[in-house]
Amino acid sequence: MSSISSLHARRIWDSRGNPTIEVDITTENGGFGRAVAPAGASRGSREAIDLRDGGTFLRGKNVSKAISSLNNIVAPKICGMDVFAQNEVDAALIALDPSPLKEVIGGNSMVAVSLAVLHAAAHVADKPLYQYIAQHYNRIPILPLPEIQIFGGGAHAGRRTDIQDFMVMVPGASSFDEMMEITSEVYFAAGDILAQRGQLAGIADEGGWWPNFDSNEHALETLVMAIEKAGEKPGDKVVISLDVAASEFGKAGQYHLALEDRKMNTEQMIAMLGKWCLDYPIVSIEDPLSEDDTDGMIAFTKIFGDKLQIIGDDYLVTNAKLVEQAIAEKACNAVLLKVNQIGTVSEAMRTFFEAEEAGWQVVVSARSGETEDVSISHIATGLGAGQLKVGSFQRSERMAKWNECLRMQDTLGAAQYAAGSSLKNTWWQQN
Ligand code: PEP
Ligand code: MG
Repeated sequence: MSSISSLHARRIWDSRGNPTIEVDITTENGGFGRAVAPAGASRGSREAIDLRDGGTFLRGKNVSKAISSLNNIVAPKICGMDVFAQNEVDAALIALDPSPLKEVIGGNSMVAVSLAVLHAAAHVADKPLYQYIAQHYNRIPILPLPEIQIFGGGAHAGRRTDIQDFMVMVPGASSFDEMMEITSEVYFAAGDILAQRGQLAGIADEGGWWPNFDSNEHALETLVMAIEKAGEKPGDKVVISLDVAASEFGKAGQYHLALEDRKMNTEQMIAMLGKWCLDYPIVSIEDPLSEDDTDGMIAFTKIFGDKLQIIGDDYLVTNAKLVEQAIAEKACNAVLLKVNQIGTVSEAMRTFFEAEEAGWQVVVSARSGETEDVSISHIATGLGAGQLKVGSFQRSERMAKWNECLRMQDTLGAAQYAAGSSLKNTWWQQN
């Protein structure tokens, strides 16, 4: 037992220049933990709400109310609790705000406290966070296989493409280090191709290239060219992963690809994505249909579930109950794990174990608004989750998380890397 002796919340600023919440936790015997709330832009409608002040000051995004409730209401409630009792601390937070979307205290407040407590517990235990997580949840640590964004689109790049993330995965690399080298070559090859064509418009929110493509498929063609230019055979060591984020351009079974002014129903969306999967080495698709299109998700998974990783992000919002339902309905075969979507570490862990028991893949993920906080690198590694999605290969809030994995590699050894083992039930492993 080590009692929490103080909680201090302050306002800091995230990678988009928006205010966010940082929480420091101390314990009676000198333990210290710090964590920061990230923020999404393409948010699921069922995810925990970020508590912000509203109004016009700082475009409504200030967090002074949340910080005041953390320092005045949450701090007295959790001070005196055992820092190792993560479930009890999280239950106390939920008791203060039992609303389904956590709109009273805010998911942003809860996640910062919950993660800071986890960090403080690791400090008191005198272990790096990933080792503490592995011990606390009885797991074997393993470095994750990353999904790394090359082109950013959707809500992260002024909707320049409708599809949000065009990413690569390098399941054929033998270490995290080699994966970084290959990804670097692909990333800069893609940038060079865009620059040569006069199609490079800048850097998107997660560090990927902000492209001027004529169609969504044009991004896929260019990505394949970049993989080749980097000296790799597409589909061999390097494969493609998409976050369609379809809720951003689809509702009630109707989809509109604005870039091509193309209107489609669910069936046509499935046909388009299916054709892309035949024509390009795509191994993973996130949110292929919108969050309200359960029939579409079930139909898509029925056709492609034994070849592709099909991830629910906005569709599942890290919610164990929604995951349970999707397992029963066979509506995906993988879940994106974003702690701030559900609010607390304990709830996210429930989701993790629920998914893993069903044989689903879990992809731990950052948000599009991030900071120097590297908790998710430790969560992915400590749980041996298998995969991590952080954004691109540029901007320090992204690179900090990849670099933290390299530091863990020093202790774990290069062999403790998930590589392609996490792509079970996909054509990549079957071939
Ligand atoms: C995502 O959709 O997977 C994502 C990381 O974006 P955001 O944080 O904007 O929801
Ligand atoms: Mg997503």
